[in-house]
Amino acid sequence: MNISILGTGYVGAVTGACFAELGNDVVFVDIDPAKLELIKTGRSPIFEPGLDELLTKNLDRISATTDTAQAIRETDATFICVGTPSNPDGSIDLRYIESASRDIGEVLREKEGWHMVVMKSTVVSGTTTGIVRSTLEAASGKVAFRDFGLASNPEFLKEGSALVDVFSPDRIVIGAEDPRSRGVLETLYTTFDCPKLVVAIPVAEMIKYVSNAFLATKISFANEIGNLCKTMGIDTAEVFAGVGLDARINPAFFRSGIGFGGSCFPKDVRALIAQAEAAGLYPKILSSVVAVNEDQPLRLLALLRKHIPDLEGKRIGLLGLAFKPDTDDIRESRAIPIIEALQDARADVIAYDPLAIAHVRSLFPEITYASSAAEVLESDAVLIITEWKEFEALDYTGKIVIDGRRVPKAAIGSIYEGVCW
Ligand code: NAD
Repeated sequence: MNISILGTGYVGAVTGACFAELGNDVVFVDIDPAKLELIKTGRSPIFEPGLDELLTKNLDRISATTDTAQAIRETDATFICVGTPSNPDGSIDLRYIESASRDIGEVLREKEGWHMVVMKSTVVSGTTTGIVRSTLEAASGKVAFRDFGLASNPEFLKEGSALVDVFSPDRIVIGAEDPRSRGVLETLYTTFDCPKLVVAIPVAEMIKYVSNAFLATKISFANEIGNLCKTMGIDTAEVFAGVGLDARINPAFFRSGIGFGGSCFPKDVRALIAQAEAAGLYPKILSSVVAVNEDQPLRLLALLRKHIPDLEGKRIGLLGLAFKPDTDDIRESRAIPIIEALQDARADVIAYDPLAIAHVRSLFPEITYASSAAEVLESDAVLIITEWKEFEALDYTGKIVIDGRRVPKAAIGSIYEGVCW
């Protein structure tokens, strides 16, 4: 199949590389030419383990262009992979989706033959059959499900293990209304040996949001219980190891800590809340999930003040800035509210991360960035924000360490506090 990918960020780059590996010809499109220049030479525009190798291996099936019209004309199917950020009120900002839909529709007006449009971006239920369909139809003068295909195929990859997630998914969700669109996606994924769920498009969209909202709920639940366990001197990890053994519950996403960040959970939970509110509902559980997540990083500061009551002028080291290990992504990283709180307290912040310093430097040019993790250990106290593997190799002896992620080595020989343990 000839496939165009609109949006060459995390999802677009990984999805396109995966489709090329499956034997398809893939054209990557983005409004940012720098990303496409990297793709053309087999390099990923984002950090993701194994992605450079996969792109290089499949370079003869890959091309990249800023010319959306040409990419759509020369392919059979277009996957929309553009960003869906939040509006200030938490609702989903569909401006990139609308603009991509308009671009596609304008090309479909002139293009002969049937073309398939697939929504891979995370969009609230009703978006694809609503604003996307109407924008495509208005721009093309054609009718969806008849003159062109339209489907939803939400993405469940996790940054840091994206290739494993894409090649060995728990399930593939296909939202389709017409047999031809459904057939295209079933053919594309024919070699995958996992449950394939074919549902109506709004159901597919909802499955994605509910999955993310539930995982975020597990994390905030584990954090709330972890806060209680800490006051009782109980090890929250032992509690959740026992809880997770219940087959009805499952142990994943029960690691208590300083909360979730990243480009998906915070914005997707907020978008679901906004959608519920627009429907006249007050989603109490989801609102609490966000509230717990916002409080959690600040608990690290409260624990730090037990050891250093006045932070003014004190050098406080941060180990880790990315929202999780094995990514350079800092979107909604818990490091951000922690740096802001330390600045409010007039602390002198020094930070280290193996991959994410450049991104954080653009937000906080005024703090100091260390060239190694060991340099951060020279501070008056150290906060562990991201559980990078290399932090296991450090010697924390004699240091004040406030751990937001549970790095076992950090407790050895140090003055140690875990956020929930
Ligand atoms: P991203 O910001 O990394 O990438 C989006 C890309 O789209 C950018 O490179 C941007 O320049 C490009 N773009 C914007 N408008 C465009 C247009 N009109 N034409 C072509 N390119 C355009 O975003 P992402 O993290 O890849 O997320 C994309 C979508 O996938 C979002 O809806 C997100 O919620 C969802 N998602 C993300 C992840 C993840 O882990 N990052 C996982 C699952 C789903």
